[in-house]
Amino acid sequence: MELLDNPVRPYAWGSRTVIAELLGQSVPSPHPQAELWLGAHPADPSHLVYDDGATKSLGDALAADPERLLGPDRACRWDGRLPFLLKVLAAEEPLSLQAHPSLEQAITGFTQENAAGIPVDASDRNYRDPNHKPEVICALTEFHALIGFRDAEASVRLLRALDVPELAAHTELLAAQPGPDGLRALFTTWITLPQSMLDELVPALQQGAIRLAGEPGEWQREARTALELSERYPGDAGVLAALLLNRVVLQPGEALYLPAGNLHAYLSGAGIELMANSDNVLRGGLTPKHVDVAELLRILDFRAGPPPVCSGHPEAGWIRHDTPAAEFLLRRWESGRWESGRWESGHCESAEPLVPVAVPDGGPRIVLCTAGSACLRGGDKVMKLRRGAALFMGDVDSGVVIESAEPGTQLFLASDGLG
Ligand SMILES: [Zn+2]
Repeated sequence: MELLDNPVRPYAWGSRTVIAELLGQSVPSPHPQAELWLGAHPADPSHLVYDDGATKSLGDALAADPERLLGPDRACRWDGRLPFLLKVLAAEEPLSLQAHPSLEQAITGFTQENAAGIPVDASDRNYRDPNHKPEVICALTEFHALIGFRDAEASVRLLRALDVPELAAHTELLAAQPGPDGLRALFTTWITLPQSMLDELVPALQQGAIRLAGEPGEWQREARTALELSERYPGDAGVLAALLLNRVVLQPGEALYLPAGNLHAYLSGAGIELMANSDNVLRGGLTPKHVDVAELLRILDFRAGPPPVCSGHPEAGWIRHDTPAAEFLLRRWESGRWESGRWESGHCESAEPLVPVAVPDGGPRIVLCTAGSACLRGGDKVMKLRRGAALFMGDVDSGVVIESAEPGTQLFLASDGLG
């Protein structure tokens, strides 16, 4: 088990405070800091920091000794690579509207684009690898997002409340067919509109949103989001498409799983994101980047419903955020919340856990400290994790325990989903 040095991704939508504060750097940071990556992604891998100060890319370390670090079975199953990527995501501004393909769609798309001779790093390339990208996000702060299609009848109510004459025909299209087919028809209509029509429709919607945002009621938050997006992306079909999605607010500790085909956009807030190791994103707007409408329509899931927000369930001192993904499992631990095997909702003032808490064994794992500090023991080695620090544990590092922690300490554990 070794400390990890992790790269910060400076995308323009990032916060200037969240990641800098987490890492103990000066605030605000000179540039936006959108994501902290913890993993072995070839584009920006974490580095193991050895006791003597030497460092090594986690990807190189895994390639040099896959059986010891991944485990003999997992080295084969995961093709010698880390199957997940852990991120701290800090959004100051909305991210693009997007969805991710299923494994079958990714394999097909990757093969076809290779056959068509499109370079893997081309800006109009959809599939940069043959892998799917399910993801789970757990909120660190209040986290705002658009996730999955809202029940179509509710969306008809929102569109009627917006009362935009230019959208009346579209509203009735959905009202006549309030299910996945109607959602597909309306979404397809909007995303394929000529730019000249979008340049009229989005400002018209903006006027409706200004009025509705000023009226306390069922749709005030949705109207404010539509207003904000229309100001940022004046002629973008994604502003219209966003009207059809669930507007979600996650409280700290609440998590959401995003399966293949789920249309989503993160709006603001900080969270821990764990995903399969893939870059496959199909965008649907709210971005200056490449949008492949035909391919997006092929992979989108138009089934509507409320997003399954879940606070996880307790297991041996940890809180598990289970998902169907085999590539990853996210666990959370908070000091003072688990005493003598009893689940306590309040925080305990004890500076030390009464009993060492086992870190689950099996395969490659990353522990990240997001609040407080903790001491972890593995064999003779004791390592202190302060806020913002992370440890990598290989399959050989079994029997690791949390030996002590400040009150209010919070740790996240990323592993694969096989254990
Ligand atoms: Zn996504």
